[in-house]
Amino acid sequence: MVRKFDVKRTKIVCTIGPSSSDEQVLREMIRVGMDVARINFSHGDHETHRRNIELVRRIAVEENAVVAIMGDLQGPKIRLGKLTNEPIPIKKGDHLTLTARKDADGTNLVLPLPHPDFLADIREGHRLLLDDGNLEFRVIARQGDDLVCEVVVGGELRSRKGVSAPESKLKISALTPKDIEDVKFALDVGVDYVAMSFVRSANDLRELRWLCKHLGKEEVALVAKIEKREAIQSFSEILEATDAVMVARGDLGVETPAEAVPIHQKEIIRQCNEAGKPVITATQMLQSMVDNPRPTRAEASDVANAIFDGTDAVMLSQETAQGEFPVQAVATMATIAVMAEKHFAQAIRPERGRWLEAALPDLFEEDLENISIATSRAASLIADLLNARLIVTASYTGMTARLIARTRPRTSILCATTNEQTSRRLAMVWGVHPMIVPQFTTIDEMIERIVVAAHSARMVEHGDTLVLVAGVPFGMAGQANFLKIHRVGESQEVPAPGMAANLTRPDQR
Ligand code: PEP
Repeated sequence: MVRKFDVKRTKIVCTIGPSSSDEQVLREMIRVGMDVARINFSHGDHETHRRNIELVRRIAVEENAVVAIMGDLQGPKIRLGKLTNEPIPIKKGDHLTLTARKDADGTNLVLPLPHPDFLADIREGHRLLLDDGNLEFRVIARQGDDLVCEVVVGGELRSRKGVSAPESKLKISALTPKDIEDVKFALDVGVDYVAMSFVRSANDLRELRWLCKHLGKEEVALVAKIEKREAIQSFSEILEATDAVMVARGDLGVETPAEAVPIHQKEIIRQCNEAGKPVITATQMLQSMVDNPRPTRAEASDVANAIFDGTDAVMLSQETAQGEFPVQAVATMATIAVMAEKHFAQAIRPERGRWLEAALPDLFEEDLENISIATSRAASLIADLLNARLIVTASYTGMTARLIARTRPRTSILCATTNEQTSRRLAMVWGVHPMIVPQFTTIDEMIERIVVAAHSARMVEHGDTLVLVAGVPFGMAGQANFLKIHRVGESQEVPAPGMAANLTRPDQR
């Protein structure tokens, strides 16, 4: 079991579904490494989601684990309507019609597509991909509001299969009426992240942020799911507008060639690391474990390579939502992560360090951001050189912890915060263990409170070396300018072994 906070650094996102709604299964998933519960609004109803969220929260408290909740919106997923006689076999060269008319049911190859706005945005010559790209049509004519298509790649058509138009610029809103209801629900139950599907531009995220503000929960963190060609093209602006990113490889491999997904993955992760924003690599990571207790070699390599790319988190979808082996899938992912991280620390890190040197901004300009970047990098380096027990950051927003994490130190990072929401959000960030501490007002008080809390949680022992990073004066978000190398017990904040009976903690004197 690899649950101990400084053993596994990569975070694991698990999609909750029928296979993982059972209390004992969820408890085991948390014990073996789940850090974020993904509530997928493409399936299930609010009542079921509420029950699952309450269960995750209760078990997390009982297991003394920090688990974030991410609500994942369905977005404007375009699907075929109901076909009467299915499956319908179609072959290359067949002609068929796509229509929003209500009487269409697939008879005579007239297929129902109940999305008139989508049909209006498609032009002659555009490609349409169905069923995760397994079937391909080309539009050869427009007849009124209907589209006449020729089949380029045939197969079997079934009701409700997804349709995408990778070459078309769609004007439909990124938030559907169902998404708006799901956002209201998600904010009402207090999720930590809301993930937006089919993001095309920063404006889509601004629309969602505006909705959250309108609902009184502006502070919820947003995850931009990158799964459209347009999102790849405007990724820098999207990254600025979002709090976190998901490489949603399922739809990304339909909207862009599947062969290009590894390159998009590397580039997205690189930019997220540079910006210090968490990134999740998602979909088909351990797909064969839906039906098998062991992963394929290719899957094990895929998870490890995403970690070498610099991903903060890896995600399980069907594996934990509907699969036969949800606990084994999480345990397998955790084991792959631990082995990859060990290798990363020994072999990949120096090279990565050089890459970071090149990628980070010019540090000679002394502004607040650069001071924070320099302090965080120095903290990582010092901690690794001294073989410190922990890098400890006191952070209200979690920014300092993210800045340290992106340098991928060998030393574990403990983020002490007074803010519960920050603590849960950090559950998605590579290598950061969040811990709630009582409010402090002076530097001495900060050190004392953090060390006492870490000591009682058995994370540190008397004599351990810690590298402490914070921003002073307190309360000014977004600056890390204080660094101290602290030996646990040096100011008698914790008793030396065997002295417990003689000492009282400073706050009790
Ligand atoms: C994906 O497409 O990879 C993805 C995560 O999105 P969803 O599963 O919500 O379609």
